[in-house]
Amino acid sequence: MEKYTGEPHNAVETEAALSFLKKSVKSLPGIGDKFYNSLQKMGISTVRDVIYSFPYRFDMFKSPVYGEKGVIGGVYENHGIIKTRNGKRMLKAVFRSENGFFSAVWLHFKGDYPANTLKKGETYYLYGTVSKNDGMPSVFHPEFLKPEEVGALRPVYSIPGAMPQSVYRKAAETALKTGLAYVPETLPDKILEKYKFPGIKDAITTLHRPETEANVSGIISRTHPAYKRFIYEEFFYLQTAMEIRRRSYSAAEGIKFRIDKDFLNKIKDIMPFRLTSAQRRALVDIFNDMMSPAQMNRLVQGDVGSGKTIIAFIAGAAAVDNGYQVIIIAPTEVLAEQHFGNLQKFFRNSPYSACLMTGSVNKKDKAEARNLIASGAVNFIVGTHAVLEENVEFFNLGLVIVDEQHRFGVRQRKALMDKGPAPDVILMTATPIPRTLAMTVYGDLDVSVIDEMPPGRIACITKSYPAEKLNDALKFVEEILEKGQRAYFIYPLIDESDKLELKAATKSFDYIKRFFKNKNVGLLHGKMKGEEKKILLDGFKNGSIDVLVSTTVVEVGVDVPEATVILIENAERFGLSQLHQLRGRVGRSSLQSYCILVTSQDITENGRSRISAMLKYTDGFKLAEIDLEIRGQGDFFGTRQSGLPEFKFANIITDAKILQAAQKDAKEILSCDPELEKEENKIIKNTLSAHYSGGASYLGVG
Ligand code: ADP
Ligand code: MG
Repeated sequence: MEKYTGEPHNAVETEAALSFLKKSVKSLPGIGDKFYNSLQKMGISTVRDVIYSFPYRFDMFKSPVYGEKGVIGGVYENHGIIKTRNGKRMLKAVFRSENGFFSAVWLHFKGDYPANTLKKGETYYLYGTVSKNDGMPSVFHPEFLKPEEVGALRPVYSIPGAMPQSVYRKAAETALKTGLAYVPETLPDKILEKYKFPGIKDAITTLHRPETEANVSGIISRTHPAYKRFIYEEFFYLQTAMEIRRRSYSAAEGIKFRIDKDFLNKIKDIMPFRLTSAQRRALVDIFNDMMSPAQMNRLVQGDVGSGKTIIAFIAGAAAVDNGYQVIIIAPTEVLAEQHFGNLQKFFRNSPYSACLMTGSVNKKDKAEARNLIASGAVNFIVGTHAVLEENVEFFNLGLVIVDEQHRFGVRQRKALMDKGPAPDVILMTATPIPRTLAMTVYGDLDVSVIDEMPPGRIACITKSYPAEKLNDALKFVEEILEKGQRAYFIYPLIDESDKLELKAATKSFDYIKRFFKNKNVGLLHGKMKGEEKKILLDGFKNGSIDVLVSTTVVEVGVDVPEATVILIENAERFGLSQLHQLRGRVGRSSLQSYCILVTSQDITENGRSRISAMLKYTDGFKLAEIDLEIRGQGDFFGTRQSGLPEFKFANIITDAKILQAAQKDAKEILSCDPELEKEENKIIKNTLSAHYSGGASYLGVG
């Protein structure tokens, strides 16, 4: 393919250009409805997507070696059908090369097709596995290459299995030939020069058609400037968007709360335990933010069980004492109910009022709650994001607390913040991102880390059992139940709406019920109504239910300290972050806790690595590292849920240096040109609004 030599940086995103790139892949040769559907599922639906989907591998056409794939070229002589030794019919065509004769053979053929399409005296290049047949080299079911393809590197794309590479390659070739000219530059000149990055068109060309082996190894090792450009670009736009957001936060006039000795003494009196020093540090950070006139945007990061909830409650009480309302948002109804219950327990002797707003609160109660909230009669509002969607008017919202922040999009957060005059915001997460990285990744937030567990906690003991030994595992659980402690049983329902899977869980439930004859066993799953869920969970909390059989609805946040054992069936089907979250359900008291991983026979290599990591480590950070190793590039330890973008090129761990450089550049550019109005920065503004606002909602700009 030709190198693009035009003016790479002056391209303007004209309507025509944009609409060409937005054309469906169906407009490309060879792609009909069938391929279209499966390509779309892989995220390739437009010409632009094709241009931006690079090969993951390059094959070289080698000269033939017996037993391997290779290319032989020669002039076609003749063909015929012959009988093999074992009586099968075989189509055979003979070619002449400089080194003598060779043949092509087919076992599957129609009439004498495809040999009858060959023209006498013409030169052909055959690609396929080469073997010796009747004393001459022979290519089995060859692919015919064009002369210009021979000796070239052949790109291999990540496409649906049913689609031949050759078909997709042709489509990609067309997309590049006609579409590349329309692709606008996306990085400013200054950046390209600073890092010696190629322009966008050159970079795309190199990644699709690297031409030299040196380029290929640079791409595969992710060190080629064309590849690095895309890593940088992903980071740069993430950081630019974050910086824009951070600037808008700090410009926002916030509330200046008063927090005095009286308040601190009051809290001290109602505290059921002493805060750990890590909790105290986080609380001091929060108080300082609250007392300052700027709006608070603080992320509290702490491993499961580190005690984030109490911090949120205390901060909430401070806001209420200043006359403001507080909203606590949880990712699941189960967790919202729990927070609501704990809040009432914690403040039982305080004059605070609270209401619950979840999807399953009935219409009448909701309407009443809405009135109470609007009139200011209620101090704490606990709910799921349903609260956001239901047009709640606050009397005077002063503090927003979002638990397990990784389940919430930035847009939702923003929707809430727009409800009041810049309320302070606390986000709580258990996603273990290393501290230095967290500051870059959550560049728009201040971060407090709770890196200490409440005192008296004993490390959870993790064991694994193969499915055949399930009864041994159950006997082990029985011993613990006999001591009056409680147990979770978890089933991996990938899809709660899948009837078959639910049936499997119900069947296991029956089995467990029969096994623990003299115990109370309850079944909890996502398809249940809110009220049913609440009754079950309350029963488990107060001890009238000993064993809670559940799908992963208990994954996040559920806190029942008397539960000391969690048994996870088909544990190999869970990701490491989920396993870690699930294990966090036990070990919430000073009693010894156990996590039992039951694995089925068809466990994969990766599944096995996950299980052994769980057996070996309890630390979330360590597990996150291992998760990264196992998965390599791509999604790591729940980044998919963490509110972080999924990067196509970049890896926030291994490319940390580039991330930091991109952050520095973004900050510098915006401090000189906050509105991105300078001519040289127009590209940034255009790219942000064209590609990083609609599609990538995490950025929350535009
Ligand atoms: P997470 O950080 O996972 O949200 P929680 O806030 O649910 O953790 O706290 C876990 C458990 O530890 C709860 O039962 C809570 O009451 C208890 N807890 C929190 N802080 C302390 C502390 N300083 N001392 C003793 N127990 C604590
Ligand atoms: Mg929690």
